[in-house]
Amino acid sequence: MIHLQEVKATIASGVELVAVSKFHPVEVLREAYDEGQRIFGESRVQELQAKQAALPSDIQWHFIGHLQPNKVKYIAPYISLIHAVDSFKLLLEIEKQAAKVQRTIPCLLQLHVAQEETKFGFTPAECTALLQAGAWRELEHVQLAGLMCMASNTDNRQQVEAEFAQAHAYFNEIKSRFFADDPAFCQRSWGMSHDYRLAIKHGATLVRIGSAIFGERAY
Ligand SMILES: *Cc1c(COP(=O)(O)O)cnc(C)c1O
Repeated sequence: MIHLQEVKATIASGVELVAVSKFHPVEVLREAYDEGQRIFGESRVQELQAKQAALPSDIQWHFIGHLQPNKVKYIAPYISLIHAVDSFKLLLEIEKQAAKVQRTIPCLLQLHVAQEETKFGFTPAECTALLQAGAWRELEHVQLAGLMCMASNTDNRQQVEAEFAQAHAYFNEIKSRFFADDPAFCQRSWGMSHDYRLAIKHGATLVRIGSAIFGERAY
């Protein structure tokens, strides 16, 4: 029993739902597929590989987790969006592997806005430095398509809203500064099961929702 339709009913039009299916078996993904879902998010390469091989080819697979450069080659042939690019080194590897399979892979830069120390991602200053350096413009097989972030894992609604608002303002800043002529830089991936309503309020275009659809994960 999944809650795809209930969740979809709460998502504003213009916002895309990434069904985060990590740790759930193929049969559960198939159920969501049969209800019309086509975008699935996974965070471990091996698991994604197995599911991609077992499920229909019109699924758009998004990689939402921390991605190690040495694993890019496995997913480069089919991945439709990499959400959490957190280093230039990773971007270079995506470029290399995408070129090999003659694809252009859309990528989001992961922005660090949460209070927690443990979260990956660029601070706004680091992200601006990367964009300013300009070497990314030479990557012909990588398309920078926007930003991704995770808010702090807290019940403090004001803090979560402030973090999403910060990410949104920062997106607008770099959009006008570096991507004014690039309509492809348009995605804001923020919001998970517990905070997606706040994320949508603050400009999310992609929400990554797992447990609200599929129930709790058994790790
Ligand atoms: C697991 C995960 C999600 C989904 O989390 P839920 O709380 O189950 O909705 C979203 N984003 C990332 C990066 C994740 O790793």
